[in-house]
Amino acid sequence: MSDRQLIARLDDRLDRLVNIDIGERGVEPLFAAARDLQGGSLVGAAADALMAVPMSGTVVITTGSVSRAWITPELGENDGPSGAAAIARALVLERNAACIVLCEETLIPAIRAVMVAAGLFPVGLDQARIAQKDRSLATVVMMPYPTSDEDGRAAAPAMLDALAPDLLFSTERVGRNDRGVYHSMRGIDYGMGRARVDFLFDKAMARGIPVVAVGDGGNEIGMGKVAEHVRAHVPYGDNCQCGCGGGIGATTGCGVLVTAACSNWGCTAIAAAMAARGGNPRLVHTPDAEARLLDAMVAAGLINSTHGIVDDAVDGFPRASHLSVATLCQTIVSRAL
Ligand SMILES: [Zn+2]
Repeated sequence: MSDRQLIARLDDRLDRLVNIDIGERGVEPLFAAARDLQGGSLVGAAADALMAVPMSGTVVITTGSVSRAWITPELGENDGPSGAAAIARALVLERNAACIVLCEETLIPAIRAVMVAAGLFPVGLDQARIAQKDRSLATVVMMPYPTSDEDGRAAAPAMLDALAPDLLFSTERVGRNDRGVYHSMRGIDYGMGRARVDFLFDKAMARGIPVVAVGDGGNEIGMGKVAEHVRAHVPYGDNCQCGCGGGIGATTGCGVLVTAACSNWGCTAIAAAMAARGGNPRLVHTPDAEARLLDAMVAAGLINSTHGIVDDAVDGFPRASHLSVATLCQTIVSRAL
């Protein structure tokens, strides 16, 4: 059996593991549709795309969801940041990439703390370039993105020109629907205080820059790729509760879509698949690392949005389930390491 065949089998196992619809949110039909369009493992295709980032290249990463912005825009949710941190870390270690994390200015303190817990020291872009040259430090760059439609749309081309990213990666980042409204999974208008990063992704897609996106609910950047399946299978997929006349499905698509029952699990699986490809165990998002990030997210005040409280039950799933997924992903790829 060739390494290639082994990797393909591991990819399929990772795909299936993270798409068991434990939360009963309708992710399994989205998984099936995305697999059909991809023609193979979603996790594997995402890992291939990330491993193809040129050495010392530039990657834009986005995550973050202001969870109760009508109360305070400083409150973010805990699905997304740890997964994004695991991916950024793998990209820095394996590709010496400069990772630029975009989110709401109000969420930078919390997400920055999660990046630090993943081993990445936040610096400015010029400093990240120095660290890339001499490989003396694993860094990350935090940048705010505008929260109004007008400014979000206007910022996109200039930011792509300035950063010249080799790839864009999104996880658990809500995108607008075809009426221009940002929705929660319960179908309410969720747009206030929210960074309009989806405009940047639309522009990147139009320019042919590779885009990888992870989502679990249908309302995230990337889900435009399976829009008709979101309409058919996800609660409020065809008709929201806000009165805009659309469903919650995000209109922004992507090149590679990774569905998962919890977006963080999708990222854990992708990091494992990258480790298998690189023959590099350091890229694995281990259960110890997951525990560290869960603790960091609680300390940073990120919220379990399902239960409306700051704790380590991401998407309402208990802490042990997240450690278990990390353990199983690590175990699956151990055959290749
Ligand atoms: Zn609506």
